Amino acid sequence: MTAAEKPSHSVGLSMSVEMTRINEPNIYCMNPFEFAKQQIRRAAGVMDLPDDVLNVMLTPRREVHASIPVRMDDGSQRIFSAYRVQHNNARGPHKGGIRYHQDVDIDEVRALATWMSLKTAVVGIPLGGGKGGIQVDPKEMSEGEVERLTRGFTQVMADVIGPETDVPAPDVNTGPREMGWISDEYGKITGDTTGAVITGKAIADGGSEGRGEATARGGFMVMETLKERLGIPDGAAIAIQGFGNAGRTFARLASAAGYKIVAVSDSRGAIYNVDGLDVAAVEAHKDETRGVSGASGSEAVEDVLTVACDVLVPAALENALHGDNSHAVQAKVLLELANGPVTPDGDAVFENTGVHVIPDILANAGGVTVSCFEWQQNLISEHWTAEEVDKKLEKIMQEAAEAMWAAHEQHDVPLRVAAQVVALKRIQEAMTV
Ligand code: NAD
Repeated sequence: MTAAEKPSHSVGLSMSVEMTRINEPNIYCMNPFEFAKQQIRRAAGVMDLPDDVLNVMLTPRREVHASIPVRMDDGSQRIFSAYRVQHNNARGPHKGGIRYHQDVDIDEVRALATWMSLKTAVVGIPLGGGKGGIQVDPKEMSEGEVERLTRGFTQVMADVIGPETDVPAPDVNTGPREMGWISDEYGKITGDTTGAVITGKAIADGGSEGRGEATARGGFMVMETLKERLGIPDGAAIAIQGFGNAGRTFARLASAAGYKIVAVSDSRGAIYNVDGLDVAAVEAHKDETRGVSGASGSEAVEDVLTVACDVLVPAALENALHGDNSHAVQAKVLLELANGPVTPDGDAVFENTGVHVIPDILANAGGVTVSCFEWQQNLISEHWTAEEVDKKLEKIMQEAAEAMWAAHEQHDVPLRVAAQVVALKRIQEAMTV
């Protein structure tokens, strides 16, 4: 689609946003970097952030655009577009995952890098923000092809990443396997033996206890901290969009704590049971068939986002909830395990309908927090126990949730704005010392 074909719509919060209409008539794909910037401008207004700081926050510090040639198994060559965006390092080295997805583009990576700077600040860990991505559908490739792509990415980025400068991690469609290849390739190129260039590694490669579950566990800790204040009842009904690392782990933790997981979905379908799904059975079904649809004790449901529930957990991709569908949400609380699942016009709807949105930069910050622990352990050659990791994580998530809540009460603003105010204040302090 050319720029001329992209309509500019006026949306909630009186802001003009570039949007692109995609396949289905009622689904808009907003430019996530535009809405990351809108969010920051709004929080900056609440706290009178100086323009100099605001402008730095709206502009990534460095961007690398790369082309990675990969020899495919059939002997042909394909070239993949890859990006690394280093948004802000006032509080420490850039930090953020690497996403493998066919829809990755530079603005998505810019947005995710921006949110990382806010995320590390809101939980108060000594890191900045960055993000990487490769435009690829890895599910169509063999393991050898993905490995060659990942090693190619490391070679082209080796000059700009490093334990003291920029420390990547997993994101959608990447995990310990890819992190292990990056650590190995980076070590071959630079001689580094700490493994601290990357987090989310397998334990055998220097990973931390608890990293795999950390995103969901952190989100769960935040929900528990604010439960009474948000009116979440014991045994509340929860619906989850996305049944990958974040979504399925959250389902497991919440179900074990007595919550009722009434609906889950993945990219292939959605399932429902008003009395609560058997999460272990859904996990087994997903592992066996690669989808949640058809798990025993479930019925198909059209839209997981609008089922009757107390808490809705978007745990898939950006733009899931927008101006056209947010009115239909029945939950009273949203916990954003995904990054950017609610667009600004979706936020405007939730402000009107009184739905509390626990924002991504806090709700899913458990992952980067344990990544920070992994980086720290690598640098000092230590390995902490799962109990130590959990205890440290809980303290950080609880304190961050309290800080956000205090800003929410002080400024009388939604939780997203409150979390950003907390984060921007910390970044401002680091920039001006
Ligand atoms: P993942 O690849 O493991 O899982 C993604 C899940 O979303 C899959 O089940 C996929 O089928 C599903 N999905 C994709 N499109 C969907 C759609 N339209 N409807 C329903 N389901 C859909 O990824 P993940 O690591 O679980 O990440 C999920 C989200 O959480 C992303 O936004 C990511 O940036 C964010 N996040 C993850 C981590 C982490 O540590 N894994 C940390 C912070 C944030």
